[in-house]
Amino acid sequence: MGVIEMNLVENVGLIDGYVDEPTVLGVPPYVSIYPRYVAGSIWANSPKTQIHYQTIDEIRKSFENAQRQWAKMDLLILIAGMIVPGKYIGGTPISVREARILFSSPMLEDIPKILVGPWASFGCGLQGGKMALSSEVLAPPFDYIVKGDAEIVLAQVFDPSIGLESADLDATRESASEIEPYTIRGAQIVTQHPGFSNKHIICEIETYRGCPRFITGGCSFCVEPSYGMPQQRTTNDIVNEIESLYKLGVRAFRLGHQADLFTYCSQEIGEYEFPTPNAAAIDELFFKIRKVAPDLDVLHIDNVNPGTIARHPEESKKVAKAIMKYHTAGDVAAFGVESTDPEVIRRNNL
Ligand code: SF4
Repeated sequence: MGVIEMNLVENVGLIDGYVDEPTVLGVPPYVSIYPRYVAGSIWANSPKTQIHYQTIDEIRKSFENAQRQWAKMDLLILIAGMIVPGKYIGGTPISVREARILFSSPMLEDIPKILVGPWASFGCGLQGGKMALSSEVLAPPFDYIVKGDAEIVLAQVFDPSIGLESADLDATRESASEIEPYTIRGAQIVTQHPGFSNKHIICEIETYRGCPRFITGGCSFCVEPSYGMPQQRTTNDIVNEIESLYKLGVRAFRLGHQADLFTYCSQEIGEYEFPTPNAAAIDELFFKIRKVAPDLDVLHIDNVNPGTIARHPEESKKVAKAIMKYHTAGDVAAFGVESTDPEVIRRNNL
C-alpha cells in the first residue's frame, strides 16, 4: 500500500457491514450513527470528497463488481461489528470471512483500508454473545484499525495538518458536543442507502453514550460502562439532527442509542447507579421532535432499564406517559433482563 496525500482523496468507498452494540443497531431497516457520523467527519474536513456508500447486502450481489468499483477509490472504510446476540430479518451482517475475501483482492492492494466500528474497538465477534477474536485478525487486509471513535479519528485523517499516517487511531470523543459538527453534515449519506428511496429506513438516534451503572462497573459482559461517565447530547442537538434527516425525506426514527432512555437528562447521572428520571426533559425532547418532524411515520425508542422503573415508579410513570403522548404505534421499551437467578445476578453485577 502506498502513502496517500489526504488532500488528493477525491473518492472514498464507505462500506456498511452493519453493527449491533448494546446501544446501537444498524441492520436494515435501521441505519446506525456510524455512516452518518463518518460521512459528516469527512465532509467537515474535505467537503469535495465523494463518498460512495454501500451496504454489505448490496455488495453480496457481486463481490467482483464491488471490488472493481473500489479499485477506483482513494480510500476504503469498512464499518462493522456485531457484539450482542441478535437475529436479523432485514439484512445479514458481514462475516469475518467475507471481510477477508472482499478486501484482500489484489485489485485493492494499493488502496488504504480502514476498519471502524465495534469490530475495530472491541474485537471481531463471530456472533454476539460469543468470545470475540482480536481485531488484528483483519490486519491485513486492513491497514488501519480504528480503536477510538470513527468520527474523531477520521476528522484527524482528513485534517490536512495531520493526515492518515499521523492520526491517532485511539482518539475518542471527550464530550458529546464533539460529534455535533458531524451529525447534520453527514445526514445526507442516508440518501445513498438502498432503503431510502422506498422509505424503508429507520434512523437510529443517539441521546447519550455510556451507562449510568458505570459507577459500580455495570454488567460484566457489557462494553457500555467502558465509556465512563455518560455523555449526553443536548435536546436541541438531537432535534436539529432529526430535523435535517426529516428535511431529506426520512420519516422513521428510533431513539435507540442510550443505555436507558428513562434516564436521559437525569441530573443524578454520575451520582447514582439508577438515577431519577427527568420526565420534563423527555417530554420536551419528544415535543420538539414532533414539532420539527410533524409528518413522521415512526418515532420509537429502545433500551429502558427495569431497575430504574423499580426504584422510581412515579417518575417512570410520567416518562412513560410523555413517550406515549408523542410516539407511534408498535413502539417497544426493550428491557434487558438477563436472568432472575440471584447467583447469576451477583456474579455478573446485573
Ligand atoms: S445496564 Fe448493563 S447491559 Fe445495560 S447498558 Fe448498562 S452495563 Fe450494559
